[in-house]
Amino acid sequence: MTEATTAATPITQLRRWMSGRSIGAAYITGPVSIAYLTGVQARPMERLMALVVRPEAATLIVPALEQENASGHARDAEVVAWRDGEDPYALVASALAGLGEVAVEKEHLTLHAAEVMTTRTGASELVDVGAEIRRLRLTKHPEEIERLVRAAAITDAAGDEVFGKMRPGQTEQEVALLLQAAISARGGTLAFPSLVQSGPHSALPHAEPGSRNLRHGDFVLLDFGAAVEGYQADTTRMAVVGEPGPRHKSIHGIVLDAHDAAIVAIRAGVTAGQVDAAARRVIEAGGYGEHFLHRTGHGLGLETHEGPSLDPGSQTVLEPGMVVTVEPGVYIPGWGGVRIEDDVVVEEGGCRVLTASDTALRVIH
Ligand code: ZN
Ligand code: ZN
Repeated sequence: MTEATTAATPITQLRRWMSGRSIGAAYITGPVSIAYLTGVQARPMERLMALVVRPEAATLIVPALEQENASGHARDAEVVAWRDGEDPYALVASALAGLGEVAVEKEHLTLHAAEVMTTRTGASELVDVGAEIRRLRLTKHPEEIERLVRAAAITDAAGDEVFGKMRPGQTEQEVALLLQAAISARGGTLAFPSLVQSGPHSALPHAEPGSRNLRHGDFVLLDFGAAVEGYQADTTRMAVVGEPGPRHKSIHGIVLDAHDAAIVAIRAGVTAGQVDAAARRVIEAGGYGEHFLHRTGHGLGLETHEGPSLDPGSQTVLEPGMVVTVEPGVYIPGWGGVRIEDDVVVEEGGCRVLTASDTALRVIH
């Protein structure tokens, strides 16, 4: 990535792609894409919200309910609003007037919306821009990293608070509520529903918190994250109820070594598969290879799961500014599981770890 592309805003980068293909306009409808391109986080529900990007100007069309929010946050785009009872496609038609080929997100735009859009605006051909937006989102701008840093700091502090408040006998759901309160109290929102898994439940890579009480000898897995301005942190830490036994310590130690090995392996130029292999090798050497049930990590940003994916064998080359989780795990059915997860930014010679709370096995008394 050159200096010039680092400095360019997402809309400028999108315009470069459009001009390289002689595309006169992009009609963007995915709320996450709109948040990425304009900074406006909105949930239009069933109402039309769309961003029209042309070479010299951009128009964000929003329901009137979102006008104040959009006007307060929009960068690089003029905001126009429509009220219930009005025809939003009149605004779309005027923003797209006179254009034949239009780039759209084919994965997001319904066939119905595409038909209305083309009949009302005269757009003759629709080409897909979804893959290009996903590609742009792979490497984060400094402002995006700054939001992830804040989300990670809230996540770390909230986790430390909750581990300090956990007691034998609490239910998983009670602990999930503690996480939610600790994140809200620090100005974050929940990035995703927290996972609180105790005892045998911790052996399931993803299970909803339930009414099970924390009991002596349980592993307790907390997988949670705060979001700041839409950017999401994602971390996992482990505790044991009562003094950990040899098996707790041994499995936690192997997973922590795998986590550390993956982080050491991450730098610009290595493949996602090499990072996965660095973690997997440690777990295989420890004798638990068949119990590492998933990839080593995933990309992170406006969505909890986005590109790139740290899949076994992946040839995707890591670039500076990519943000990924590192989260190896070992799951022993019927007994318990361990996962340790942090968020890192890929840099030229290594990586910067954003979530920084103590990775040691915590003890609940
Ligand atoms: Zn997670
Ligand atoms: Zn994750």
